[in-house]
Amino acid sequence: YKEFQKLGTKSGSDRNKAMVEQLHHFGVITSKKVAEVMGTVDRACFVPLGTPPYVDSPMQIGYNVTISAPHMHAMCLQLLEENLKPGMRALDVGSGTGYLTACFALMVGPEGRAVGVEHIPELVNSSIQNIQNSAAASFLEQGSLLVHVGDGRLGWPEDAPYDAIHVGAAAKEIPRLLIDQLKPGGRLVIPVGNIFQDLQVVDKNLDGSLSIRSETSVRYVPLTSREAQLRGY
Ligand code: SAH
Repeated sequence: YKEFQKLGTKSGSDRNKAMVEQLHHFGVITSKKVAEVMGTVDRACFVPLGTPPYVDSPMQIGYNVTISAPHMHAMCLQLLEENLKPGMRALDVGSGTGYLTACFALMVGPEGRAVGVEHIPELVNSSIQNIQNSAAASFLEQGSLLVHVGDGRLGWPEDAPYDAIHVGAAAKEIPRLLIDQLKPGGRLVIPVGNIFQDLQVVDKNLDGSLSIRSETSVRYVPLTSREAQLRGY
């Protein structure tokens, strides 16, 4: 390790921090808290072996899906920041590698709860291993971070209502059950559409009414059935 340092080669976690610094430099990351969390959770723990962890683009993770690009993770964390304060509850639908669920766990802290739901059991198992290798391991151990196998279109009613819900796959329309599982004052971030999708931000107001806006155009894999996904849609 010392030899590498002499040669000026940076360790993985230094390169993760450099990636965060780049995203900050280009104005993608504006939140200090999000920079801190993304700087702490090393993406290298979450991508398959042989996949470049710090390149700002989505990467294949098997099962016809991808880990989202770092700039999308940053954007979603920032859109949800006010709903990821210590002690709050967050649901990550289509948790995939577990990267964002791990970030949620750091944001809400040990008194909060970060719940991932993913419909591919193999991805749930590998995401748990990824988290165990990461800075979020203690949250898994202590029970404030959980990842379940399930159809995320149904949400995860056991831990509802949530302050924050993130959906990492594109829905044809906003699933009613996710709205139901949102707290008044809570926020849902979800890509909606087929090929052309909008990242929608849904706020449940204190009187229960909804305010919906489109943040930007995005391209996510579909939120669908396990069968359709494994057959290639
Ligand atoms: N945000 C994650 C994964 C993004 S890919 C990451 O960055 O690692 C979208 C994920 O949603 C995939 O893992 C896919 O298997 C999952 N998914 C798609 N439809 C689903 C559904 N109905 N229920 C649960 N998970 C679903």
